[in-house]
Amino acid sequence: MKQFLIVGNWKLNGNVIFVQNYINKIKKFLNIKKLNFCKISIAPSYTYLYLSNIHLKNNQMSLTAQNVDIHLSGSFTGEISINMLKDMGVKYVIVGHSERRIFHKETNQYISEKFHIIKSHGLIPILCLGETEIQRNMNQTKDICAKQIDIILDTYGIEEFNNTVIAYEPIWAIGSGKSADPIEVQKIHKFIKEYIAQKDYKVSKNIIIQYGGSINKNNMDTFIRQKDINGFLIGKASLTAENFISIVKKAEKIISSI
Ligand code: PEP
Repeated sequence: MKQFLIVGNWKLNGNVIFVQNYINKIKKFLNIKKLNFCKISIAPSYTYLYLSNIHLKNNQMSLTAQNVDIHLSGSFTGEISINMLKDMGVKYVIVGHSERRIFHKETNQYISEKFHIIKSHGLIPILCLGETEIQRNMNQTKDICAKQIDIILDTYGIEEFNNTVIAYEPIWAIGSGKSADPIEVQKIHKFIKEYIAQKDYKVSKNIIIQYGGSINKNNMDTFIRQKDINGFLIGKASLTAENFISIVKKAEKIISSI
């Protein structure tokens, strides 16, 4: 049976009341619903990780961090280390999100260092990659994805990808309300899987490949049914507990029928 990882990326949203209400609703839902196929996680901003961890206390839902620094300690004002995230009960860390690549000028090299620090400290990186609209129109999607993988492969080797998550997120689909074509996404996921499998088949089996880009409860159906789509990274549609729960419920139902 398909296993599916759904992560809600709250980005720069939320406050104390929001976090408490959201988690209370999720807990109520999880108290009556055992998830058979989905693993779920939320990514609040750093400031709410502690509160979220205290409120969660439910192992059916984990915590994801939106970012991490490459240093473990020292004079790096404003940064958060991987050990601090571990202290907060975090399981996954998003790395290479296009918003950080664009607005914070994060390079492939820098992202690979973040990936490594996450992996080497026992947390699970969610590596975001994907093409711009121009690159897509120039038929460069596969090359871009391969390049973003290669920088990690070449530096740290294929084992670095064992038990990690890759989120294929076409940049033009993020926050645009225009999701990608699920059949096209399946082709890219298959390409990524095979690309990793060429180096190590076992590692490719242990990778989860999520799709992200304007997913919501109304357009998720065909995506889930694709063989190599094994999760969603969701921004906007994860910003209410009701929507997030609807997506999880629907995912459970669809997977049970495949
Ligand atoms: C994202 O930011 O990773 C994302 C997928 O956002 P949205 O769902 O809003 O497109």
